[in-house]
Amino acid sequence: MGRLAYVNGRYVPHGHAMVHIEDRGYQFADGVYEVVPVVDGVLIDEEQHLDRLGYSLAELRIDWPVRRAALKLILRELMARNGLRRGIIYFQVTRGVAPRDHKFPCAAKSALVITTKRLSPPSAAMIQDGVAVSTQPDIRWARRDIKSISLLPNILAKQAAVEAKAFEAWLVKADGIVTEGSSTNAWIVTKAGEVVTHARNHDILGGVTRQALLELVTSAGIKLVERSFTVTEAFAASEAFLTSSSAFIVPVTRIDGKAVGNGKPGPITQKLREIYVEGVDRQIRAAS
Ligand code: PMP
Repeated sequence: MGRLAYVNGRYVPHGHAMVHIEDRGYQFADGVYEVVPVVDGVLIDEEQHLDRLGYSLAELRIDWPVRRAALKLILRELMARNGLRRGIIYFQVTRGVAPRDHKFPCAAKSALVITTKRLSPPSAAMIQDGVAVSTQPDIRWARRDIKSISLLPNILAKQAAVEAKAFEAWLVKADGIVTEGSSTNAWIVTKAGEVVTHARNHDILGGVTRQALLELVTSAGIKLVERSFTVTEAFAASEAFLTSSSAFIVPVTRIDGKAVGNGKPGPITQKLREIYVEGVDRQIRAAS
């Protein structure tokens, strides 16, 4: 049987899954989403992703399409039907279907779409050699903490990065501060050994991987600092890396073509990756 998608209460073949043309997600990008990694059939950091979904929905005053407990059952059902063991589960909630009009509709019911995708972990080459990033202007709106499906600036930045032969874009504000990547959080390790990532505020998405790492690392005795860093500081860093639910932790070894440190993934990044992967393994063991 082919891959299925979940669309507003029905499990339908992926190729035939459709939404109404007046779904406000389609018309206005009036919706939010989540991506949860699946490893060995286990949803990693599921509660944190559902908490963030709740936050995004509340900030935009969109109702939960189904109760949280029901959503958890649907996620598992779709994973089971699709035989998903390793990959991601994507779910998006929009404000629903209504005649096109900017103001909130009175009677629309929020709409839920869920898909799964098989995805391998980052390749051995990516982990051994690291990836390149390209700095791009951060032209997004002022509420990047909401995981909105409106991703046009992220798409443009990522495309510009790919055209510059980089894996990811690092988004830079007019004042030179690196906020985050187009779909990842950005980190550096300074020459003094401080691990630095942008503080959690409206300027960045509070990454679940970012938060998990912050918590795991504190107990490992590594010094992590949540503060802004500039592109200049990033160029001078001894190590850099990025985090996200689909990539976990990937070393960054070039920024705008310049080598970070000695141009190889650094020991702190490698240690953090080990700590993170152990955390994932613990979740898998606890679930089975
Ligand atoms: N920042 C942005 C802009 C993102 O889109 C993502 C991925 N959703 C992240 C950071 C990383 O967040 P997470 O660790 O929750 O995947």
